[in-house]
Amino acid sequence: MRLSRFFLPILRETPKEAEIASHRLMLRAGMMRQEAAGIYAFLPLGLIVLNKICDIVRQEQNRSGAIELLMPTIQPADLWRESGRYDAYGKEMLRIKDRHERDMLYGPTNEEMITEIFRAYVRSYKDIPLNLYHIQWKFRDEVRPRFGVMRGREFLMKDAYSFDVDQAGARHSYNKMFVAYLRTFARMGLKAIPMVAETGPIGGNLSHEFIILASTGESEVYCHKDYLDFAVPDANVDFDDIAGLQGIVDKWTSLYAATSEKHEASTFEKLSADKQVSARGIEVGHIFYFGTKYSEPMKAVVAGPDGAEKPVHMGSYGIGPSRLVAAIIEASHDEAGIIWPDAVAPFKVAILNLKQGDGATDGACEKLYEAFRTRGIDVLYDDLDQRPGSKFATADLIGVPWQILVGPKGLASGQIEVKKRSDGSREMMNPEDAVMRLSANP
Ligand code: ATP
Ligand code: MG
Repeated sequence: MRLSRFFLPILRETPKEAEIASHRLMLRAGMMRQEAAGIYAFLPLGLIVLNKICDIVRQEQNRSGAIELLMPTIQPADLWRESGRYDAYGKEMLRIKDRHERDMLYGPTNEEMITEIFRAYVRSYKDIPLNLYHIQWKFRDEVRPRFGVMRGREFLMKDAYSFDVDQAGARHSYNKMFVAYLRTFARMGLKAIPMVAETGPIGGNLSHEFIILASTGESEVYCHKDYLDFAVPDANVDFDDIAGLQGIVDKWTSLYAATSEKHEASTFEKLSADKQVSARGIEVGHIFYFGTKYSEPMKAVVAGPDGAEKPVHMGSYGIGPSRLVAAIIEASHDEAGIIWPDAVAPFKVAILNLKQGDGATDGACEKLYEAFRTRGIDVLYDDLDQRPGSKFATADLIGVPWQILVGPKGLASGQIEVKKRSDGSREMMNPEDAVMRLSANP
């Protein structure tokens, strides 16, 4: 992408309304714009990151055997009357009437709708287990939308729903999501710790929140320090290996980890003092098993081998991709701006033309730009007619992992400078080596 042809509305001043780093940086880096309280437009740079996050989420959901579909944002109220949640959900639900005075709503979650889809087609135990997910916008009229997309009213969610014949099957489905979540967050460069959680209005009896530690987090959390060094299962983990997956989950739940609602001070205090982590955290994912809470009232049943019909056992599993954009920034930034982990960086490389209009410099930049593009590397070419200082500031602010500084001085001896955003280290090299180095897989 040529910066001159991109839409990157950088703010030089720090916006006053933003209380936390990710909110400030997302506004300053031109990633998003508030349209109403808790409602944001994702601008091009923000959207690239959001899409990269969704790609990782999708790949790991698919790897675990979940299947993608897409349900609408608008739902009929009648579905929610069947489960009894239409009245129970309260003011968080945005209720709408259509032109025929029918009650509709903007979905805050999709348990009812997926149960309706399931019961329309699935009748036999032979057709399950099944896990269906979508990535779709949700609306919850939060009392206190704040911190930008961290707690929005409209936000993106990946929500998956599993269907099994019995509790043992549902446990395996739960474990699949548990392991998929460990991998998903690790791929984004995050250390997410599964913590015992309250089940809340969705209801149920087995639940974990995946939390990343951050001083600006809204949750109060307590956990064993060793979790921070646990190794995450690799890509060839066998999701059909029931005992193997249970082993991974057992390990990841063997030590103390709880949110404040489930915190037991007496148990936590038995840990040796140097292992006690009492911190704030950001919830990036949440998984539930809730048995037949919806399948019973909504009559989602399957016939077993003996022909007897029983309500299916269900679970639901959420991840917040839009919140993750902010959460990753909270976990990875400095004074100068964002430091994207490679996997979600909007561009891997930024080429900074330090003397736009100088024939040799322009030529070298164009050649580099072309070389990265043909190699399929996401590259941003800062070809604006601006002072180097402002180019450095922009590149640091938007957090591109590698910057290539191209100026007449270096070029005189055939060299360009490669700067690594994460530690600020710099190295002179010739352009061909830079292309080779940065095109290689990490
Ligand atoms: P919270 O406790 O933060 O209000 P929740 O428990 O209500 O979240 P879930 O119903 O578990 O949220 O939703 C699944 C995921 O969706 C959460 O783990 C989070 O990543 C994301 N999410 C929930 N609410 C919001 C919000 N208001 N803004 C952005 N993301 C959200
Ligand atoms: Mg939750």
